[in-house]
Amino acid sequence: MMQNSVLGKSLAAWRQAFPLLTDIIALKPVFWENPFAKDTADWTDLPVRESDIWEAEALWQRFAPFIENVFPETKAAHGIVESPLRPIPHMKKAMENYYHERIAGDLYLKCDNELPIAGSIKARGGVYEVLKHAETLATRHQLITKGQNYEQFASPAFQTFFSQYSIGVGSTGNLGLSIGIMSAALGFKVEVHMSADAKQWKKDLLREKGAHVYEYKADFSKAITQGRALCKREPSCYFVDDEHSRDLFLGYSVAALRLKKQLEAQGIAVDEEHPLCVYLPCGVGGSPGGITFGLKTVFGDDVHCFFVEPTHSPSVLMGLLTGEQEKISVQDFGIDNVTEADGLAVGRPSSFATGISKRLSSGHYTMEDDDLFILLALLMDAEGMKVEPSAAAGLQGPIRLGIHGDKKIDQATHIAWATGGALVPEEEMNGFYKKGKALMKET
Ligand SMILES: *Cc1c(COP(=O)(O)O)cnc(C)c1O
Repeated sequence: MMQNSVLGKSLAAWRQAFPLLTDIIALKPVFWENPFAKDTADWTDLPVRESDIWEAEALWQRFAPFIENVFPETKAAHGIVESPLRPIPHMKKAMENYYHERIAGDLYLKCDNELPIAGSIKARGGVYEVLKHAETLATRHQLITKGQNYEQFASPAFQTFFSQYSIGVGSTGNLGLSIGIMSAALGFKVEVHMSADAKQWKKDLLREKGAHVYEYKADFSKAITQGRALCKREPSCYFVDDEHSRDLFLGYSVAALRLKKQLEAQGIAVDEEHPLCVYLPCGVGGSPGGITFGLKTVFGDDVHCFFVEPTHSPSVLMGLLTGEQEKISVQDFGIDNVTEADGLAVGRPSSFATGISKRLSSGHYTMEDDDLFILLALLMDAEGMKVEPSAAAGLQGPIRLGIHGDKKIDQATHIAWATGGALVPEEEMNGFYKKGKALMKET
């Protein structure tokens, strides 16, 4: 449903003002360098600060004893929810062969596909926001103080207390999973509003955990709007709002502090001579925005963060390119927002995150779904690692940067952020892999 005019301007006028829109609307993969990015020293207008990241990290630490108790898979890490950073040299070779392009520098995978609790990057933002809300309620009702042992959150008394409250969320799948699993673990009632593209197994798993799942025939915008309205009617309901949330954003940002330690432990330098390039799959823009804010805070101008979206859902790119952010949707320009990349099927960006990313992201690229499956299969063959299609998007970064940028630097470290995969049923994963292999043969 392409409109004749968007925000009072004809499509011809939009295209003239932003020539890249022509390719974006034609669903061609594009690369956009962000002209609005500011040097770290020039951030005066951001609504978040470094101290916010440290406060978020402190909350994770307070809850670690509870998490360790309730999620046994976090025992080894003492309740800290974190993923490994792994070198993927065989994948680098496989991509060089496949794309006939040299990759300058080393390639790593940040394995959020292995994150405990939710098996995706949502175990950072989503889990954090639920914990923060639980702490707010528990301290307000004098059940606990911040100095006490949070293992008590697992006790029947706390569960009974939280059962008076509910948590609502709109989701394409993974956010719903993280909120549903964590809320249920604390004893909250939980209502998940799922868009039409959400996978059946995710709905089944949520229902198994005791969540109430609402299914919509429309996309994410509709699911979140309805969910928000229903939750607002109930004073005891708290809505985790992916389009506006500051807490989700800060939950993600903590990843930067952890990554800094991992880079140090592996002896990987990040400085002017050794830039760090990070490639982040992007839906509403919350997770890439929060992580970019964290990384720019930690590494300043030595880190460059690139956001990746499907050609059919380039909402954050369009919002930033035009400067209109959440005021426009991809559908306004006749783009269908249909992609097999769960979590990236978002037609309108988050207002909170996008306002910040505008100053911090170095660039954005879009890619076709077929390439997601090919990269997923290449990664499985080369490294034996399993990621879901959206999570493969970052892998193409070093190739795209090499072709389009002037930043071809031999001493760079590239990190593709693998955003999900662990909870995907084996049958589905095999299907993704087979699809990737078949596509590889065609090309
Ligand atoms: C949610 C999600 C993303 C993107 O995060 P946003 O905050 O929506 O930008 C990327 N990959 C996966 C697997 C996700 O679930």
